[in-house]
Amino acid sequence: MEMLDILIIGAGPIGLNCALEAKKNNLSYVIIEKGTIVNSLYNYPLYMRFFSTAEKLEIDEIPFISTAPKPGRQEALEYYQGIARQKNLNINLYEKVLSVSKNDEIFDIKTTKANYQAKNVVIATGFYDIPNLMNIPGEDLPKVKHYYTEPYPYARQKIVVVGSSNSAVDAALETYRKGADVTMIVRHAEISKSVKYWVKPDIENRIAEGSIKAHFNAEMIEIKENSVVFKDENGAIHEIDNDFVLAMTGYLPDFDFLKNSGIELNGDCLNPFYHPETMETNISNLYLAGVVCGGKDTHLWFIENSRIHANMIINSILSRFSS
Ligand code: FAD
Repeated sequence: MEMLDILIIGAGPIGLNCALEAKKNNLSYVIIEKGTIVNSLYNYPLYMRFFSTAEKLEIDEIPFISTAPKPGRQEALEYYQGIARQKNLNINLYEKVLSVSKNDEIFDIKTTKANYQAKNVVIATGFYDIPNLMNIPGEDLPKVKHYYTEPYPYARQKIVVVGSSNSAVDAALETYRKGADVTMIVRHAEISKSVKYWVKPDIENRIAEGSIKAHFNAEMIEIKENSVVFKDENGAIHEIDNDFVLAMTGYLPDFDFLKNSGIELNGDCLNPFYHPETMETNISNLYLAGVVCGGKDTHLWFIENSRIHANMIINSILSRFSS
């Protein structure tokens, strides 16, 4: 079995960036990815727009040319998949990593298709695969969606959107504009401050004029076949007619995978342990990169500020090889 210098788990923007750095430094590497290249972005809402400008999403200083100030999903797919193609990155697709274990300074990596050995492992698995569940009765009904793609299925339907961050607000506005009857159920007292600055006035004005109904400081209690039950800010229980629930309640990293790999998880947010200068975890030669580093705090890291992880990790690996 070939001994790799680095095995990278996840072909998101940051996993790709790690591969680019490894390649430049003549280290042997492979990325193992359970879906397509930049699988999370592939699963984003079709008409989403990044809050970042194109140059902030660039990796390895490769220009990201966008026709708009903030690129959309398709342009980002073209950009990142184009890099993987042009640079001929070594990526195994539709292969999921099941376990990472360390024996005698060597990592054994088991996947759905093969076993690998590597001197270093980078976990860049993001947070978009596991929905943050409400854990209420009826959440498993087929009408409840944790991923929103596009508004057209919801025309003339009674929609409840749960949440008030970017994904919730985009879903509420898009479905409202295709003729859905939209009610937002929001745990907090107002629309999230992190909502894109050019979108926030739009949602606030639609709520103020009553085009979109919104209940703040409210809590979902139960989802039924044709209705939902929620508690309002005064503690009163309401049951309203409903066809679909768009539960935009966020996503979580795969904590079981991190724990089973031996990584310490700390505090309320289950922050995975890593050294901030090298991104190395409590297991030597096992690194974390990208948004997975935030634990439950999925707003801490994004592409803009985690692009630097690749450089830090490869420098740390190179320093070991030369010492
Ligand atoms: P990901 O892109 O999530 O990549 C992780 C990869 O790992 C995935 O392809 C996944 O399939 C794979 N994977 C997971 N587990 C395994 C396994 N066991 N085996 C093999 N493969 C595995 N950031 C910005 O900087 N600017 C923005 O404007 C912005 N907008 C966003 C809009 C939305 C709707 C969302 C959800 C996020 C946004 N972000 C933005 C945040 C950031 O872009 C994404 O989270 C980004 O995808 C993070 O990159 P990553 O490489 O760390 O993780």
